Amino acid sequence: ACFAQIDKVEKEVNSFVSLQKEAALKRAEEVQKLIDDGTLSGPLAGVPVAIKDNMCTEGVTTTCSSKILSNFVPTFSAEAVLNLEKAGAVVIGKTNMDEFAMGSTTETSYYGETKNPWNLEHVPGGSSGGSCAAVAALEVPYALGSDTGGSIRQPSSYCGIVGIKPTYGTVSRYGLIAYGSSLDQIGPVARDVTDCATVLETIASHDVKDSTSVERQDTDFTSALVNDVKGMKIGIPKDYFGEGLDEEVKKPILEAAEVLKNAGAEIEEFDLGLVKYAIPAYYVIASAEASSNLSRFDGVKYGYRTKDYEELHQMYKKTRSEGFGPEVKRRIMLGSFVLSSGYYDAYYLKALRTKALIKKAFDSAFAKYDMILAPAAPTTAPKLGASLSDPIKMYLGDIYTISVNLAGLPGISIPVGRDAKGLPVGMQLIGDCFQEKKLFQAAYTYE
Ligand code: GLN
Repeated sequence: ACFAQIDKVEKEVNSFVSLQKEAALKRAEEVQKLIDDGTLSGPLAGVPVAIKDNMCTEGVTTTCSSKILSNFVPTFSAEAVLNLEKAGAVVIGKTNMDEFAMGSTTETSYYGETKNPWNLEHVPGGSSGGSCAAVAALEVPYALGSDTGGSIRQPSSYCGIVGIKPTYGTVSRYGLIAYGSSLDQIGPVARDVTDCATVLETIASHDVKDSTSVERQDTDFTSALVNDVKGMKIGIPKDYFGEGLDEEVKKPILEAAEVLKNAGAEIEEFDLGLVKYAIPAYYVIASAEASSNLSRFDGVKYGYRTKDYEELHQMYKKTRSEGFGPEVKRRIMLGSFVLSSGYYDAYYLKALRTKALIKKAFDSAFAKYDMILAPAAPTTAPKLGASLSDPIKMYLGDIYTISVNLAGLPGISIPVGRDAKGLPVGMQLIGDCFQEKKLFQAAYTYE
C-alpha cells in the first residue's frame, strides 16, 4: 500500500532520496512469518517506516543529502534503526533533508527539494522535510527525523503532523551522522500522538556506544496517553507571542490553549526572557561543532573524492569544494572562525555562557509550570525559494525551537489549525528534562 501511494505522489513531493522496495517487501514477508509463528508481536511489527538519510543503515546508501556522501554505504545501522528493526519495523526508504541537516526548508539537498504535500508551491520545512512530507503524503505511517535546532518540530508543524524531539540523551546518537553533537537528537514524526509515543518508546534506549546516552526507567511513554490535564500548570511565554509571530499562526494556537484550559489546565502568561540571544548563541555553537564534525569528510575515508588532483592538500581542497553545498560551506567557515584563536572567547565561549543562562531561564519556568506552550514556527510554510536567498531570515525562523535544544529539553509539535491558504499550523509543548510523559498526556487532549 505504501509503495502504491509512493508511485502516485513521489514524483511531485520528492520525499525520498532512495527507496528499498525489493528489500522491504522481502523483509515484510520474513516479519510476517515471525508474527504468524508467534515469535514477534507488538505494535510496530510489520509496519513500514522511513528513515532520514543522516542515519546509517547497513548496506544502504546514507547520503545526508550531500554530494560528498553520495556513494557512502555504511557497514552498520544506527542504534535507533536497530531498535525499530528488533520491534519488526520494515524500512522502506531513506528520506530527503537539508544537506547535513543544515537548513529549515529541505531545499539545500543535493537531490532536489522536497515539496509540501498540502501545497506543492510551498516548502515542507526542514531539515527533516522528507520524513515529514512522506508521512503527510501518506507514503509511510511514520518516520524518523533528527532535531538539532527544530528540524523535527518545525517541518512537523508545516506538514500538519506530530513530531517530538526527546530530552537530549534519550535516543542513542550512535550512527546518526553528527551535525551539532551537543544538540542533535533523533525522534519520531507520525500522524498522531499515540503513534509518536509508541515509536519513541521503541527507539529510546541506553547505549554504551553513545557517551551522552542516558539510562532512563520511565520510557513507557504510551502509559501517559490518558485524557486528563486537570490541574496541569501551563506557562505561555509572553515574549513568544509578540512581534514576529504571524496572526494566522497565533490565533489557532491561542484557541488550542483554550481547549487545554477548558479541560482543566491552569494557563498563565510569564516572561521567559533571553529570547533574542537564542539564535546567535545557537548558530555559533552549532556551526562550531559542525566545522569540527565535518572535518572527517576529506575524500580519504568516506564518500566522494575529486577526480582531478596532483597532491594531497589539493585533493582535500577540491573534494570539499566540490562535495559540499553553499549552506554547509557557510557553516564550516562560520564555525572555524568562531573557534579560531582570538575569536574563541569573544564568540564561542560567550555563546556557551548564553546557553547556560537560557537553561537557567527554563529551570525557573519549570519551577512554576509543568510545561510551556509556544508556537513551533513564526509562520506557516513559506513558498519554495523564498528563504534560500536570505539565510539570516531563515535563521530567524528558528526562534521558538532552538532554545529547547540549547537547554536539552523535550518538545512536541502538534497540528492545531490552518491558515487562510490551508497550510497547517503547529503548536509546541516544551517540557522539563525527562518530562516527555507530561507532554504526551497534554498533547493527547487533541487526539
Ligand atoms: N534550521 C536549523 C539549522 O539550520 C535547525 C536544523 C536542525 O535542527 N537540524 O541549523
